[in-house]
Formats: sequence, C-alpha cells, structure tokens
Amino acid sequence: MNDKLKPCPFCGGEADVSIGHNGENEELIYVECVSCAGMANMYKYRAEAITAWNARTKDPQVADLQAENKRLEGEIKKLKKDMKDAGLLTEEEFNKWMAEQALKDTANTHINCKSMKK
Ligand SMILES: [Zn+2]
Repeated sequence: MNDKLKPCPFCGGEADVSIGHNGENEELIYVECVSCAGMANMYKYRAEAITAWNARTKDPQVADLQAENKRLEGEIKKLKKDMKDAGLLTEEEFNKWMAEQALKDTANTHINCKSMKK
C-alpha cells in the first residue's frame, strides 16, 4: 500500500494519519496537517483517508496558477500605487482599495478555515 502523503494543500506542511471517532463512537481514520491542523474527511479505512487527502492537494498546475494569480495581484497593487502617485487616485481612494484587498484576504483565509474543519 502506498502510504505517501502529499504536503498540506493549505500551508504545504507535513501531514500525518490520525484516528478519530464519529457520533456512534466508531473509529475513523483521517489525515491531518501537522502545522495548520487542516484535515480531510474521515474514513473507515486508512487507504481511503490517504487517497482523500492526496486528492485534496492541488496538482502543480493549480499551484502554478495560484502563484500567477498572486503575482498579478501584486502587479495590480503596484499599478494602484502608481495611479495614486500620478494623482489619478486620491490617498483616500487608495487606502480604501487597500482595505478592501485586506478584507478579501481575510475572507479567503476564512474559506480555507471552514473547509478544514469539515
Ligand atoms: Zn497545513
């Protein structure tokens, strides 16, 4: 059986197999991240739990796209700054935009949080 666990889809940390219990006190196996406690669904069998965890980890293509996304977000930030410096955006507008981005980041983190606690 291939026990190899992919790194955590949330933080890239190391994952480990854990044992939990359902409502009927049956033993269930799940995989949890050692660093951020992100976890996948619980299963009766270890192999299922490992498959579920590994399916959850993004493939390299997705990771690449997310990295590209982050890079573009950085570019937008730079452009907004340039606009402000060029007088196309007031300090107030710029700060408002920055605050909105921060909120967006928090919302994304929260989504991850929720899917982890499943
Ligand atoms: Zn993690």
